[in-house]
This record gives sequence, structure tokens and C-alpha cells, in this order.
Amino acid sequence: MLERVPLLVKDLAPYEDDAGADAIAELRALAEPFRGARVLHVNATAFGGGVAELLGTVVPLMRDLGLEAEWQVMHGSDEFFGVTKSIHNALQGADVPWTLEMQDAYVDKLRENALAFEGEWDFVIIHDPQPAAILAFLEQAAINRRGSAKWIWRCHIDLTDANERVWEFLRPYVERHDASVWTMPEFVPASLEMDRVVLIPPAIDPRSVKNLHLDQPFVDEICHQYRIDTHRPIMCQVSRFDPWKDPVGVIEAFRIAREQVPGLQLLLAGSMATDDPEGFHYWELAEKARAGDPDITMVSNIQQVGSVQINAFQRAADVVLQKSLREGFGLTVSEALWKGRPVIGGQCGGIALQIREGEDGFLVDSVEKCAARAAELLTDPARADAMGGNGREHVRERFLSTRLLADWLRLFADLSG
Ligand code: UDP
Repeated sequence: MLERVPLLVKDLAPYEDDAGADAIAELRALAEPFRGARVLHVNATAFGGGVAELLGTVVPLMRDLGLEAEWQVMHGSDEFFGVTKSIHNALQGADVPWTLEMQDAYVDKLRENALAFEGEWDFVIIHDPQPAAILAFLEQAAINRRGSAKWIWRCHIDLTDANERVWEFLRPYVERHDASVWTMPEFVPASLEMDRVVLIPPAIDPRSVKNLHLDQPFVDEICHQYRIDTHRPIMCQVSRFDPWKDPVGVIEAFRIAREQVPGLQLLLAGSMATDDPEGFHYWELAEKARAGDPDITMVSNIQQVGSVQINAFQRAADVVLQKSLREGFGLTVSEALWKGRPVIGGQCGGIALQIREGEDGFLVDSVEKCAARAAELLTDPARADAMGGNGREHVRERFLSTRLLADWLRLFADLSG
């Protein structure tokens, strides 16, 4: 058995306040034919990163809609997650070694996971490359337990510049699925041969502890506990410590912006995910770049930063950064916009779906531009607030979990003929 993730209970009714009554009624109608449908989501980690964040909402809401949805996490190991992090990096365009030993380590672990796979399902959704080959091994004669389920592969990463060898290794596994789901058309490799290739961007949960409204005194108190002064300007990035999130570039941009914005503080908050062995290394690189600067605060789940703290930090920030160099989507962008904060994002991947240039924030492709845009917003708080307000409405229209659920249900309907 794969590891079953304990779920929160979520009730759809209050989402009306954020998404509107029509959206909820439509969702209930879409779900009606799937009452009792057995839906399994499988990914690599129950904690840390956007996929875990998404599943923590989508699975309980599917259950509230009457589906028998579950979330299970595959088995891994330090060696396996080292290999899958290399796959992730290679698919996002990094030059990484791709040896036969690495391929064997992947295949062995996936065969083991296929053997551990249990249950009868109507829909199985496999998230990202880590569990992508489970279906292939289930279909093999020795196991032969594909069942009657429809299998969907959901890719959350940016494949615009994917390493060919690694993608070609993965492609046959992906192509066995009945459908694949992508965030943007640009991510779908030309070589992919599948009948159903579907575009569904991720979304944020407006009722999660991370995104619920918090009163200002509470925000102030949480910031105070982390030595952040809410009376001085704050720039914030919430991200795993990962090269694609460019924490060192954020520190460099902060230093330039601070010249024009006296008293500016930078807050870098990042969790350490169990399937991301590189986190500590990139934390140390950022710590080195920080060079003891008291106006730069770095925190992680190790300092008890959880959803409430992230919520407060995003609200306290005068401007939020997501200076990624590659990004599948970047939930943190919608999270900040939903809180009415403008976001300066790296010009890449799903960030460009969320930020409309000059309306909800800015897209940048260098440290200097990032610093200039940050200074521009920090010195014009009224404009920053107006952009944040636009961003909140943009998220309401396009990036709330209710829309994401409706998209999943439409795909189920399509696959069921
Ligand atoms: N996150 C968090 N604590 C942290 C850093 C990140 O809870 O210290 C959350 C963040 O709020 C977001 C998710 O992790 O919900 C990251 O998702 P995103 O899509 O931005 O990036 P990914 O990590 O999947 O590349």
C-alpha cells in the first residue's frame, strides 16, 4: 500500500462568498454524475511545495462533492529523491548527469511502488515525474493490475526547455496514460503523442489557513515574533530554497532597491520539502549572500513557519517577489495577489499567466529590473495597493480552487465518454 495522507474536512458551501453562487451550483451539477466515483491522487510528498498544497484542498473538496477521493504518497528513498530532483531540474532545462545507475534507481523504485499499489479506482491522477511510471509497471505481465481506471498524468513543471534525454526516458511512461494535464501550452513537448492533452492551471484555496483573512494586529504580532517591523517597508518572497526560485537574485535585488527605500527589510520564507534534498544547500548559499545583514530575515518550517505565518508575511509585505527563473505555476503569486499585494515575478512559465504586466504587478528578467520595479512600487504605496486590488479580482476570476475542481470534473466527464 502506498502511504495514505490524512485529510482535512472541507465544506464547499462557504466558497460561495469568494467564487459566487453560480460557480458553486455549476460545480455541484458537474459532480453529480460522479457521486461515489473512486478517485486517487498520487504524488511524492505530503508536505512542502505546490503539489502538496493543491492536493490538501482538491481532495477534501472532491469528497465534499460526493466523490470517494483519496491522496496517497509514493514510497521513495534519499537516493530516489536525489534522482527525481535531477529529473525535475533536467526537465526545467538544467544540464545534469543522466546515468544508467540513475535510470535503474528510478525504475527499481517505481516497480516497487507498482507492487505496493492497491485498490480499485475510477480515476487515478499521477502528479509529476516521480510516480509517472507506476502505470507502466502495473501493466507489466508480472503485476498486470491496471484495472478499469482512467489514468491521468498531471505535469506541474515547466518543460519549455526540457533536457531531451531525460524527457525521452520519461515520455513512454507518460504516454501510457489516458490523458495528460499541463499548466500552459508552451510546456507540452512537441514529441508527446497522446489523444488527450488538456490545459488546466492550478489554483489557490481562499478558505485555507494560508489564505483566510487575518486582522492587522494578528499580522503585526506574527511578524514581530520573527523580528520583522511592520512599520518599515517589507519585501517578501515565499519559496522553497531552490535554484529556480533564485533566492540569491532576490537578495541582490533587495540591496539595490534599499538604496532608494531606506529602512527596507527583506523576508525570505521557505519550507524544506521531504522530496527536495537540495533545500539545505540552497539555504546555505542564500545565507552566505545575506552575509549577516540584519535587514534580511530567512525563515523556514524549522523556525515553525507554517501556513498562518506565510499568510501573515504575504499580507505584511508591501511588495511580494516571485523572482523565479523557471516556474510551473507558482501558487505563491496567486496567494499574494489574493491578499491584495502586488507581485513582481520572474518572466517565466505560469507566473506570466497570473501577473498582467502593469496591472497586478510586473514581470522581470533580471536583478536590476526586479530592483527597479520593487523601488517603484515601494515608493508609491497607493499604486501598489491598486495593483494588489486588481490582482485579487484576477485571482477570483481565474485561480480559485472552485475553478480547478470544475476543470477536473469536466475532464472526468470527457474521459467517461
Ligand atoms: N510554502 C510554504 N512555506 C514556505 C514556502 C512555501 O507553505 O516556507 C508554500 C507556498 O505558500 C505555496 C507552496 O508552498 O503554497 C509553493 O508552491 P509553488 O507553486 O509556489 O512552488 P513549488 O514549491 O511547487 O515549486
